[in-house]
Amino acid sequence: MEERKGRESVLKSLGMKATPKRLAMLAALESARVYKSPEDVWRTLRRKFAGIGLPTVYRNLDELEKGGIISKVMHSNRQLYYFFCRHKAHHHHFVCISCRKVQDFASCAEKEIEKEIKTSIRGRVLSHILQVNGFCEECAR
Ligand SMILES: [Zn+2]
Ligand SMILES: [Zn+2]
Ligand SMILES: [Zn+2]
Repeated sequence: MEERKGRESVLKSLGMKATPKRLAMLAALESARVYKSPEDVWRTLRRKFAGIGLPTVYRNLDELEKGGIISKVMHSNRQLYYFFCRHKAHHHHFVCISCRKVQDFASCAEKEIEKEIKTSIRGRVLSHILQVNGFCEECAR
């Protein structure tokens, strides 16, 4: 119940309707702690919403990503993957490319990057995206 309330308020704070399908998508992504493809999410949602189409899942995931609620995981196989993290403070993700586990880490080189962009490129930084890929502790063994 608490979890569901949290997901509802995340959607509402961003001006998005907390539809049952969107809430189920967030729940499916969050409980996993691994990144998932739209097909994975679709398979989970089909149990609850008979007849839900894959295009609906694609569209909603895209809207949730554009709304900044879920993150796209970049993968060298070009397949789309998504991940939902409830931590709102600025941080980055370490992605295990073997078991798909996603873990938070706080370290960020923002200040150094801003300084370098300012001095060498004379630009002003507005935002940045950083995803670190590798093998988690278990998979590295
Ligand atoms: Zn996170
Ligand atoms: Zn792993
Ligand atoms: Zn950062």
